[in-house]
Amino acid sequence: MPDMSLQKHPMPVQDPQVRRYNFDEVALGYTEEQAVAEAGRCLACRQKPCCAGCPVGVDIPAFLAAVRERRFEQAYAVLSATNSLPAVCGRVCPQERQCESRCVRGLKGEPVGIGRIERFVADRHNAGAASPAPLPAPTGCKAAIIGSGPAGLTCAGELARMGHAVTVFEALHAAGGVLTYGIPEFRLPKAIVQREIENLRQMGVEIRTDMVIGRILTVDELFAAGYQSVFIGSGAGLPRFLRIPGEELCGVFSANELLTRVNLMKAYLPDSDTPLPVMGHTVVVGGGNVAMDAARCALRLGAQDVTVVYRRSEQELPARAEEVAHAEEEGVRLAMLTDPVELLGEGGRVTRMHCLRTRLGEPDASGRRSPVPVPDSDFELPADCVIIAIGTSPNPLLRTATPGLDTDRRGCLIADEQGATSRPGVFAGGDAVTGAATVILAMGAGRKAAHAMDAYMRAHPAET
Ligand code: FAD
Ligand code: SF4
Ligand code: SF4
Repeated sequence: MPDMSLQKHPMPVQDPQVRRYNFDEVALGYTEEQAVAEAGRCLACRQKPCCAGCPVGVDIPAFLAAVRERRFEQAYAVLSATNSLPAVCGRVCPQERQCESRCVRGLKGEPVGIGRIERFVADRHNAGAASPAPLPAPTGCKAAIIGSGPAGLTCAGELARMGHAVTVFEALHAAGGVLTYGIPEFRLPKAIVQREIENLRQMGVEIRTDMVIGRILTVDELFAAGYQSVFIGSGAGLPRFLRIPGEELCGVFSANELLTRVNLMKAYLPDSDTPLPVMGHTVVVGGGNVAMDAARCALRLGAQDVTVVYRRSEQELPARAEEVAHAEEEGVRLAMLTDPVELLGEGGRVTRMHCLRTRLGEPDASGRRSPVPVPDSDFELPADCVIIAIGTSPNPLLRTATPGLDTDRRGCLIADEQGATSRPGVFAGGDAVTGAATVILAMGAGRKAAHAMDAYMRAHPAET
């Protein structure tokens, strides 16, 4: 009989008053007993509605059934058959909008904690010394992947599983994309990302770092070097700014810069060479996961106080509800319905943020109610450090260095459902196509493109 309790089995977390001073993981993960008990809430629905919410097609009831029966390696085999990064997805997938949003248990009570169980299964597997799955016979086909974020890594894993030779070219000195340089250690420990990348290496995927494609090599040169198909998963790493007076003052940073200093360059460790901003009164502008991550990093870096300023109300915050709750528990203040209009400073350094109150008006093109400034509602916030987290767009380098690639007016690559771009043999997916989105959507796109690339390479064998 399934466990009919209405609530998920709670996940242990670090105490907010302790964790706000450290970079250790906040959520501690299920024990074996908790994972088995939570899997016991699944009704094993024959129609599998949850699966329709998973962009990489995990067979959710099958992996949950294996957990219930304590066949954990079998559960891992089901997960990893379609998901190259299960320990990552179990932590950062917006499950509440994906698989769990379709779970029938959510009609009355909370859905099954699919993500939490996925995390348990992947961590348990990664902690053991399980031997890697046998490699398929080589096909002789050769594919190049540009970018080692979730889109590129997933595409690489799928192609390797089919027996193709795969090389990933990454511009930075470490692989993982946003998983490595963006999402902080306390949400996604880097050892976990590295372990998932190691699993791909064991499958034969070659990863070449410090390779900026478009500068060091071009897409045309990759084809000339014998790669039959190329996948572009270069993300959307170019930060947007507010374009208000005072944004050039010292002490104003993009969230990307702060997070890269912290996550990739480990600036919070005493022996790091990378300097950190003076935090003091820190104001973060934006309302997504990036804003929450930047705010929570600022707290841990010793800011006196941290305020997140957002033009709409709390209901419209695009960040995951769990992340907003964690941020507030740690002491981050939310200043909703607030629009920054000018940054003011002394001696070239920012000191204050001039803001207006807003109210919500009619829905805009995005369907969300647009913020309307309230006249004569000016006020100032003290601001020794301002972090801008209002979105990113794709870096233009690759598209300008690659003739024949169509892009839209936002600079995103245009690709069809299967990831095919306007250039034969070149496929694309993830944030480079959609603009800033989510890990699992990038992975879904990488997976689809891998299947299209497989068909393309088989139809266009290399000339010998
Ligand atoms: P990326 O992860 O951006 O990877 C692209 C890679 O390509 C990078 O490593 C880059 O260096 C490399 N590259 C770029 N240009 C070149 C080039 N010319 N040559 C070679 N390499 C190149 N999503 C969630 O689902 N849940 C979350 O909780 C979440 N939190 C987030 C927190 C932060 C701080 C940020 C920034 C994003 C977050 N996201 C989250 C969004 C998610 O991380 C992205 O949607 C996802 O990483 C996109 O994957 P991608 O592979 O398309 O690109
Ligand atoms: Fe759900 Fe993400 Fe796992 Fe798919 S990969 S089952 S969407 S947690
Ligand atoms: Fe289990 Fe929910 Fe999926 Fe049904 S919808 S199989 S209860 S996880």
